[in-house]
Amino acid sequence: MPTTATLSIVCPAYQEEEVLPLFHAALVAAVEPLTAECDLEILYVDDGSRDGTLGVIRQLAAADPRVRYLSLSRNFGHQAALTAGLEHARGDAVVSLDSDLQHPPALIPELVARWREGFDVVLTIRADDARLGWFKRVSSRVFYRVLARCSDLDVRPAASDFRLMSRAAVDGLLRLQEAHRYLRGMVQWLGFRVAEVPFRPEARRAGVSKYTLRRMVRFALDGLLSFSPAPVRVVVGAGLAVTVLSWAASVAATLALFPAAEPTARVAVVGLTALHAVGGCLLAAAGVIGEYLVRIYEQAKGRPVYVLKEGTVDAPGAVIPRPAAPHRPSRAA
Ligand code: UDP
Ligand code: MG
Repeated sequence: MPTTATLSIVCPAYQEEEVLPLFHAALVAAVEPLTAECDLEILYVDDGSRDGTLGVIRQLAAADPRVRYLSLSRNFGHQAALTAGLEHARGDAVVSLDSDLQHPPALIPELVARWREGFDVVLTIRADDARLGWFKRVSSRVFYRVLARCSDLDVRPAASDFRLMSRAAVDGLLRLQEAHRYLRGMVQWLGFRVAEVPFRPEARRAGVSKYTLRRMVRFALDGLLSFSPAPVRVVVGAGLAVTVLSWAASVAATLALFPAAEPTARVAVVGLTALHAVGGCLLAAAGVIGEYLVRIYEQAKGRPVYVLKEGTVDAPGAVIPRPAAPHRPSRAA
């Protein structure tokens, strides 16, 4: 490990003009003690914000040579913005954290200390905290339980995208060219020596969460479908079970109900119900297969994960290489 290491701090920001100045001040104060042992680079990624976020970032970059930035051509999403930052970070270790102060910057020296101990990946584990809101807490707990059951990954419940990765881990991660990126799972898939640091999430200092219910469901689907074939198997099992039940119900109704009054009508009702149940299962099965198919289709198109508009790190329009090409992260200043 080099003695004078470079530490990169990657911060994705989408519509964060209000909170960014507060965040930057807190970040600079938190990493100040590290300046004796590390060269610092703070890399903001503007994820196609339509408010004044980019203007604030430009000012921060103009005022401090340690601040660099990227701006994406439109909103590509949190995971894509993080990928862009990791691609362009030059550090021997790279920390990523949200720029809304929910991930406390004060924890960064502790992450660096664990890296100095020899860990390549330092995860932060979010404590269950009332400030997160009950829906987020419950949905997160249920999702991680389902994911842990369905996949071979040792998925850490409550892991966040606030983490440190060594250069080796970042380079390894950047070789995974998945169109639908669930970075928490991808980092876990990598292996390496992993340390964990618990943290208590703060409430958002300003602005609003960009993870609407729709985005959360999409993110959860990316996690589940990228790391597990279990949904297809569950649907096959459910389809078979419903078929057997419907068949048994029809036979039972036919035998038991024929002697009763208006037998044909009652048998017809049971038959129709069974038909609907089987039809519903077929539709659900087609939907689950379709979800995998859409992901294969998007992967096959080989589009870049993001497109750059401007920045202090690369030529405008630079993109992640196509999946077929061996990946080399750009380090151009
Ligand atoms: N973010 C982003 N692109 C998006 C949505 C969010 O870069 O499309 C950033 C956002 O600015 C923040 C981080 O990702 O720094 C986490 O987003 P947010 O705070 O909205 O999510 P939550 O903490 O509510 O899950
Ligand atoms: Mg947040």
